[in-house]
Amino acid sequence: MWYSNDTPVAIPQVALSAEVEHLQGAHWKASTPDGFKNPWPSAKAEQSFVEAAKFVWSGVGKKRPELADGCTFVPRAEVDFTPPTVGVKSTWLGHAAVLIQYAPVDGQERGLNILFDPVFSDRCGPSQWFGAPRRFTPVPCGATVTEAVANLPPLDIVAISHNHYDHLDIPTIKAIYAKQAGTPPAMLLPLNTTRIVRGIVPDELVREADWWEEISVTSDRGDAQFTYTPAQHMTARTAFDMAASLWGGWCVKTKREVGAQTVWFAGDTGYSAVDAETYEIDDSRPVCPAFKEIGSRLGPIDLAFLPIGAYSTRSFLSTVHCAPIDAVRVFKDVNARKAVAIHWGTWDLSNEPISEPPRMLAEARDKVGLTKDEFDICALGGSVSV
Ligand SMILES: [Zn+2]
Ligand SMILES: [Zn+2]
Repeated sequence: MWYSNDTPVAIPQVALSAEVEHLQGAHWKASTPDGFKNPWPSAKAEQSFVEAAKFVWSGVGKKRPELADGCTFVPRAEVDFTPPTVGVKSTWLGHAAVLIQYAPVDGQERGLNILFDPVFSDRCGPSQWFGAPRRFTPVPCGATVTEAVANLPPLDIVAISHNHYDHLDIPTIKAIYAKQAGTPPAMLLPLNTTRIVRGIVPDELVREADWWEEISVTSDRGDAQFTYTPAQHMTARTAFDMAASLWGGWCVKTKREVGAQTVWFAGDTGYSAVDAETYEIDDSRPVCPAFKEIGSRLGPIDLAFLPIGAYSTRSFLSTVHCAPIDAVRVFKDVNARKAVAIHWGTWDLSNEPISEPPRMLAEARDKVGLTKDEFDICALGGSVSV
């Protein structure tokens, strides 16, 4: 354990702003922060058993011919964690895992390093032995969890969007805090998520945030302000903690650096619930209003990470996941300048063909007038800098 008498005192990588009192919002189910809901008409209140059954049965017996070709539809690149000299560099580590490296300030060797939603386990689920789906593409920075973590640059902050297994993985978190036992990173979490990492992450390095709450990070390597942003989603680790922890995304603004610096990691989100397998824009349907608010409060966003996969069956999943046609509308609502697609190409979580999201993204871009340069997929292990 990091605090045993045999190990030196841990020196945190960063200092964090004090804990704040969380006040009940429209997305709280009651007066205590341990149950949440999506407070907008764009989310269906409850997903019916009929829709859940449709989702399950429509996928049964489905073949995945794309897997036979070695997944050539997921481009790959050698990871390169060399820090940038200016601005921000991001590296896609599969599914929703993204490393952000800031350029150094004040003669330092490197700037702040932030890791979003690291999951390096083979399966995204409660057990590595059965049940949950296995990866169909490898972790780009190592063959095992330990190796993948060992190859990462030192981390200052680990930020988690929500507690689903494809976003919060205990073996990966354990490996990170074991590797950096002497210099542990801070961990930023949504409300009521600390319970899942207790005993692994030192308590004083954890901060929980409600929607719109800010957490300031200061260090010799630079300062940053994190804002936890709303999303239309859900959480659960077990059958007994549905919606007990909050869901959302993280916006990061740096204070000291010059140039393009506002990064927004959307997490998992839906945009506009639909009843049919439709990918058309229908202006009469309500959309999640949070994104325009994110744009007006925090935009323009220099670099966004937007989910494009796990969207079919639409009648079941559109409440909680974006199809590419939703993601391009989120791009516009938040006033993004550039976005990288995440949440695809890693696990088979839904019923669309696993090679489909990039094709749908190209079509969706055309529909709303975005260019490939503005919003595209990234190679697995590849980097995008702004
Ligand atoms: Zn999720
Ligand atoms: Zn997810």
